[in-house]
Amino acid sequence: MSTPSQNASGRHHVVIVGSGFGGLFAAQRLKKADVDVTIIAKTTQHLFQPMLYQVATGIVSEGEIAPATRIVMRNQANARVLLGDVNKIDLKNKTVTSQLLERITETPYDSLIIAAGADQSYFGNDHFAEYAPGMKTIDHALELRGRILGAFEQAELSDDPDERDKLLTFVVIGAGPTGVELAGQIAEMAHKTLKGTFRNIDPTEAKVILLDAAPAVLPPFGEKLGRKAAARLEKLGVDVQLNAMVVDLDYDGMVVKEKDGTTRRIESQCKVWSAGVQASPLGKQLAEQSGVELDRAGRVKVLPDLSIPDNPNVFVVGDMMAVDGVPGVAQGAIQGGRYAADAIKAELSGGQTPDQRKPFAYFDKGSMATVSRFSAVMQVPIPGTKKKFETEGYFAWLGWLALHLVYLVGFRNRLSTIINWFFAFSTRGRAQLAITEQQVYARTAIGHLSELAKKSEVEIEADEAAEQEIERAEAAVEETIEKEESEAS
Ligand SMILES: Cc1cc2nc3c(=O)[nH]c(=O)nc-3n(C[C@H](O)[C@H](O)[C@H](O)COP(=O)(O)OP(=O)(O)OC[C@H]3O[C@@H](n4cnc5c(N)ncnc54)[C@H](O)[C@@H]3O)c2cc1C
Repeated sequence: MSTPSQNASGRHHVVIVGSGFGGLFAAQRLKKADVDVTIIAKTTQHLFQPMLYQVATGIVSEGEIAPATRIVMRNQANARVLLGDVNKIDLKNKTVTSQLLERITETPYDSLIIAAGADQSYFGNDHFAEYAPGMKTIDHALELRGRILGAFEQAELSDDPDERDKLLTFVVIGAGPTGVELAGQIAEMAHKTLKGTFRNIDPTEAKVILLDAAPAVLPPFGEKLGRKAAARLEKLGVDVQLNAMVVDLDYDGMVVKEKDGTTRRIESQCKVWSAGVQASPLGKQLAEQSGVELDRAGRVKVLPDLSIPDNPNVFVVGDMMAVDGVPGVAQGAIQGGRYAADAIKAELSGGQTPDQRKPFAYFDKGSMATVSRFSAVMQVPIPGTKKKFETEGYFAWLGWLALHLVYLVGFRNRLSTIINWFFAFSTRGRAQLAITEQQVYARTAIGHLSELAKKSEVEIEADEAAEQEIERAEAAVEETIEKEESEAS
């Protein structure tokens, strides 16, 4: 079914793809503008990705970091929110096509801001995803929580020491900020939260391995902070293995290639992938239609005003854009989204033409990553110089908490997060350790279903081939009978 989605007022219509940092902050910037805004996103919420690892490890609940976008936008009268997976952008006809189940919606735009973010990249080994989920969505975080706690539950039931070892070995692949945060939290969960809660196994004996093909932990933070983070992780009991590239991965473990070319196997049932990003495939459509280039990660090499060639009112922002000096972080997306909204407003209210736009300038506010409870690394540029102020430890950790609270959307979310943090960091408890059967088994069940679907496709093909064979044989028999009859007559 195809439904055209029109803006009734006839005002300039700004369509925004994505309700993440780029999309939401662009929409909010247009609150007082004389425009209609439509946000189309394939998820119903504004997800605060930097805290996903806390959902996976039971510190906060998913609702706290993912308020519903339409509730956030309730008081912005010029904006509406549509749920749908955008699968087509038509630059010539200025429309965006999205799909929700069987329903196809075509939305015309006057200006378009595309902020569809990025996904996990398995560097061409997409089948790894089945055994090592990424950490990009709420589903990923809940699944990982299920997998971590499910592995402990299975180990408790096993009397086979090899199987128990495999179940109690957790491997995080990728030692960037997400990998470091996850490895630290899985270790704390095993050593503190779950301590004394099982009778057949000792959770504190769980192995947490952080693997990376690169020679350093947290490469964007530089050598010194990387070394300190690695030392802190090792103190927590995390086994940091660098120069180690995963070359194969299956249900029971993985094969790792060392720098000298030798390979070894790690047996592990619970694995998580945090080693690389691939921008939304919508970038490819823009490249095909406008000639804009993409970088190796599929990011769009936008013009200095974040638009694409010959389409001054089509902006690409956030993790989807490739701009020198702008990292794939929340601030890059927020500032890009606001810049695009301001450019649209300036054109409508002040008559500023696209060639009068000042290029987008990124203001680097610094970066942070937590390593464990009471420990983080922080890097802040020193104004007027090319130097950066670096610190790590307790104060950096407090800074991380404060900053992330500021950007968490919604007063209630902030309050309940503070309560959960207080509980998790001052005791060894965690409030969000519930896992459902669906979380633990759904993925396996889905896997089985697709196997069944594949099998039945093969069976259908085999049946069709058999039917054709029978038809051919029948035709041959009829032909022979006809021939014999005509010879007889
Ligand atoms: C685990 C993790 C931890 C991070 N930690 C930090 C941190 O500590 N500090 C920091 O600054 N940054 C951090 N980042 C990076 C930061 O979250 C991203 O840079 C930021 O979210 C990018 O914003 P965005 O709007 O471009 O994309 P996103 O926030 O990813 O939003 C993309 C939106 O597009 C929607 N979408 C995607 N495809 C489609 C489609 N085809 N149709 C419709 N909608 C679609 C999605 O549903 C979503 O709403 C982290 C990222 C991750 C994954």
